[in-house]
Amino acid sequence: NFNPTLTTDEILTKDAHLIQSFANLDALKQDSARTAIVRGKGAYVYDSEGNELIDGIGGLWCVNVGHGRQEIIDAVTAQLQQLDYYSTFYNFTHPAAAMLSEKIASLAPGHLNSVYFSNSGSVANDTAVRMLHHYNNRLGRPKKKKILSRIGAYHGSTHLAMAMTTPLYSEGWDTAAEGLVHHLKCPNAYREAGDMTEAEFLDFLLDDLREAIESLGAENIACFVAEPVMGAGGVIVPPEGYHKRMADICAQNEIKFVADEVVTAFGRLGHMFASEDVFGTQPDIINTAKGLTSGYQPLAATIVSDEIYDVISRPGGMFLHGMTYSGHPAAAAAGLANIGIMESEGLPQQVQTTGKVFENSLRALEDMDIVGEVRGSHFMMGIEFVKDKETKEVFSDEHQVGLRIAQAAQKRGLIARPLGNIAILSPTLILTEEEIARIGVILRESIAEVT
Ligand code: PLP
Repeated sequence: NFNPTLTTDEILTKDAHLIQSFANLDALKQDSARTAIVRGKGAYVYDSEGNELIDGIGGLWCVNVGHGRQEIIDAVTAQLQQLDYYSTFYNFTHPAAAMLSEKIASLAPGHLNSVYFSNSGSVANDTAVRMLHHYNNRLGRPKKKKILSRIGAYHGSTHLAMAMTTPLYSEGWDTAAEGLVHHLKCPNAYREAGDMTEAEFLDFLLDDLREAIESLGAENIACFVAEPVMGAGGVIVPPEGYHKRMADICAQNEIKFVADEVVTAFGRLGHMFASEDVFGTQPDIINTAKGLTSGYQPLAATIVSDEIYDVISRPGGMFLHGMTYSGHPAAAAAGLANIGIMESEGLPQQVQTTGKVFENSLRALEDMDIVGEVRGSHFMMGIEFVKDKETKEVFSDEHQVGLRIAQAAQKRGLIARPLGNIAILSPTLILTEEEIARIGVILRESIAEVT
């Protein structure tokens, strides 16, 4: 029977059968230094040894409203009691999926009114591409299929989403989408801009897009997929005006602009959606997941424009795409309750203040010797560690600086996510100013310990 009160030893014995994600499986075989998280409340989680830890990564950039919210638990329970499962295949629908699709359409930019539900950000990204391929087929443009994404991007782990992700993640793995994806340059000013000003760097990135369109041919390119702020690529905020200018060039070439808002939507940057409110763009498709349910249930949404929906819903073809759990009633109920909390508590608005406090408190760490850059926005932040601040020389892999700093922070009661030489902080959005200050202190002590 399911027993959530196992001891650490019991968990780690059973865990020998679990294949973890993005893990060094060989190291895990030898290493018992794993953390079993057994409980969550508010901004904190608790491990199987009883340690209280600030959840500095919000689960995985997702637990936006905090852990243990009774409103969401009640909504999911009520839904399961009423209707455990039904599909949204064929002509079936149900109240939870219907209500959530209407709610999302009301929050998304004005022309995005049709929602396809899936269960993960990866599948949402695959769905957007499949829809756009079908859209182009419907318009008699069967060659308009290539995808532009970017070095540094993370779009997921299905075969197609991984092909759109930065090639680094595919080392030793294959792609089923050979020749389909072209990676544009990464908008990481710290690493890529050299002596360029911000405006020059923007021009350099726009030229890269223009050159790609020129060489591939606009008639062969379906879409440009981009995260408003790159997450797993190291928390990269692009130069001012980047998304708007990239979107304009795409529009001139009938290339659809797909915003991967799996992380950036639902409050993390101080708005329900970042595309329009933060970056002034109106994508043709927005994909989102994570904060949509705050992770309480697996759910993603591909939100498409009226123009795309009109084409794919014309007479003369079927929408041949579907996952059993698309719009699962319990997940949709979690999404509704989660958005309800965000609206009633004014969480995105609160983040406009507390997110800035968080940002500033982390930026203060830039006075430390090995902190090369602190970057990001609101509750989406990254700290890049360097061996030499002047030359930006990186630590070699064996230093495992990010990992050691994350371990030092965990000892002090904070979970941060190591990503090579970068520490990622993407906490719950409910942190108080005291908790934010404590995170700053823990990080300073942890970085000092490893330095
Ligand atoms: N897109 C972005 C920007 C992400 O950060 C992630 C996951 O971290 C994904 C897509 C994939 O989402 P999922 O892990 O739910 O498949």
